[in-house]
Amino acid sequence: MLKSAIPIGRLFGIPLRLHFSWFFIFALVTWALATSYFPDVYQEWSLSASIITGVITSLLFFGSVLLHELMHSVVAIASGIPVKSITLFIFGGVSEIAEEPSNPKIELKIAIAGPLTSILLGGIFWAIFYLIPASFEYIVAVSFWLGLINLMLGAFNLLPGFPLDGGRVLRAILWWRSGNLRRATRWASNAGRGISFFFIFGGIWLIFQGPEWWFNGLWLAFIGWFLGNAAVGSYRQLTLQQMLQGHAVSEAMTRDCITIQQNITLNELVNEHILPTGNQCFVVADGDHVKGLITLKEVKAIPSTEWASKKIIEIMVPLEKLRQVRPDEDMARVLKVLTEEEIGQLPVVEGGSIIGMISRENLLAFINIRDKLGM
Ligand SMILES: [Zn+2]
Repeated sequence: MLKSAIPIGRLFGIPLRLHFSWFFIFALVTWALATSYFPDVYQEWSLSASIITGVITSLLFFGSVLLHELMHSVVAIASGIPVKSITLFIFGGVSEIAEEPSNPKIELKIAIAGPLTSILLGGIFWAIFYLIPASFEYIVAVSFWLGLINLMLGAFNLLPGFPLDGGRVLRAILWWRSGNLRRATRWASNAGRGISFFFIFGGIWLIFQGPEWWFNGLWLAFIGWFLGNAAVGSYRQLTLQQMLQGHAVSEAMTRDCITIQQNITLNELVNEHILPTGNQCFVVADGDHVKGLITLKEVKAIPSTEWASKKIIEIMVPLEKLRQVRPDEDMARVLKVLTEEEIGQLPVVEGGSIIGMISRENLLAFINIRDKLGM
């Protein structure tokens, strides 16, 4: 998720990025402000005044979202947890915090920092709104809307469903009470799913409340859907991480990788190696010397009409371009790499040669068997 993002700079050493979906929401918010909100409240404004105010307000709004994320990250870094990046996307912002907090107190501090920032910002904007003379109409208009939206943002994020900030607070409390992170995560993410269903049904109900509501309804249902997915996904991810932690790659990797010679054609590869064995991944070698790797993915990328003439050396992934792991590496790390880079498998390399492969399936099978044996 959120791979295709544009770097826009750094703050406190944290890379800031814009996901391409952010441009859509930025345009949407600006458009809604410029063509509907401001013209409704201030009928005498010219169109260009509405547009300029809309753009500025929208930028300040996303600046507020960024500040919310930045405070999560600053507290995380102060607690010794590195932050990889902050990304703004269609549903707001995410701080990519490199690891799970080691205790509930840290989790609570990181989680609460964001919504508190939003509420504080809301307060500041509303203070400006009340203190500024009414003749500064543009500042009055902008500060009122920003105050409202920041307070709403703070309140929304405090809803007690994981992975929302409020859900993290709930998880921290349950974790602290029970001493069991996994169980706490399960409860908090169930609460997250409950909230997501509520949003989805609320959204669908809203869609049928008339033409002026359908978009808000659709949006609410969309957020609910996203939230539900995130709740289930993050619980699953954590469970996997915990079960894999402390186990080396060598415990689950496939050792009997088939080595094939670099000069055979794709036709030969498919008919003599893939179809008879069901194997999907092959080490490509020149004699005893390993050159690279070829998987179904590379084969599928070539039209079958060219299979008779193409040699596998031409389409394999060369060894130096492959992301590799060592046999003694932790499986939890490997899962992270596979998930983040969206790849199916990694070669296990020791002393410059491929001694095995580790795939998502290997990891799942490892967990499955241990689960069945009650380990
Ligand atoms: Zn937050």
